[in-house]
Amino acid sequence: MIQNKAPGKDVSIEDMKEKFPLASKKSDTHFSKFEISGVPFGDKLIPVMAGPNMVESEDLIVQTAINVKKAGAHFLRGGAFKPLSFPYRSSKYTETRENGIKWLGTAKKETGIGVITEVMEEKYLDLVCEVADILQIGSRNMQNYPLITAAAKTKKPLMIKRHYGASLRDWLGAAEYALYEGNTKIILCERGVSVPHTHKDSSRFLLDLQVVPAAKEITHLPIAVDPSHATFWRPWVAPMTLASVACGSDSIMLEVHPDPENSAVDPLQPIDFESFNTLMEDMERTATAINRSVRDV
Ligand code: PEP
Ligand code: MN
Repeated sequence: MIQNKAPGKDVSIEDMKEKFPLASKKSDTHFSKFEISGVPFGDKLIPVMAGPNMVESEDLIVQTAINVKKAGAHFLRGGAFKPLSFPYRSSKYTETRENGIKWLGTAKKETGIGVITEVMEEKYLDLVCEVADILQIGSRNMQNYPLITAAAKTKKPLMIKRHYGASLRDWLGAAEYALYEGNTKIILCERGVSVPHTHKDSSRFLLDLQVVPAAKEITHLPIAVDPSHATFWRPWVAPMTLASVACGSDSIMLEVHPDPENSAVDPLQPIDFESFNTLMEDMERTATAINRSVRDV
């Protein structure tokens, strides 16, 4: 257990012992290391997950898989089941669900890249598990404990995104539910918090980078950052990605789309293939400065 010092504003020593003993560090140097589809997490490598917000079509996801893999991404991201904020749909703005899962499978088969995708409901776990190497628990489901428990029971690795209103204590509580099921491959992902000062009318969230070192004082689990959802604004994605690497993020999730302005969902935030390629190079230079790497080592 970490020394007898106050670990954080909303986390007490008692919490670490009694509320989330499995998520808590046992010593200052305790950090989990594990592999997912041959990619090490919690080590020198900073695995990169990249792809569109939504799996819009087979062509889009296969094309993206080829390009992000070529640029050095370790996982393809993309949602087939999406927590869209409003119930109205158009031909473009519509979840691709079963088809999306099938197309992710095609992209995986054609490129060999691992897949991370969101699961929204327990009843779709078997289907999503057919293609997912990592199950994403979305921000909005961070406190859906029955979903986290069922997802953890599949033994697939989980990435739990922080709810935009959640404290570090609540986030670690969600991780504890997964660890309690005996699933040790759990990644936590910061994706922006909801606060009044977000610097731009279109910004809904503020990237809480301070939570990265704060979480790493308390938990041994790898901490990822998603600067795309946090900034909601393309020009801010690259600088905040580099800042995420610099402050100790163990993985990066990015939205990359062949035609960002025409992304079916959140078109202000994805970057194109060329920008992603440049950003991978810039990330590598930043990572080198802290003795880490985004390139396979
Ligand atoms: C996503 O990554 O596609 C997503 C919906 O993110 P969040 O749950 O963080 O809003
Ligand atoms: Mn989104």
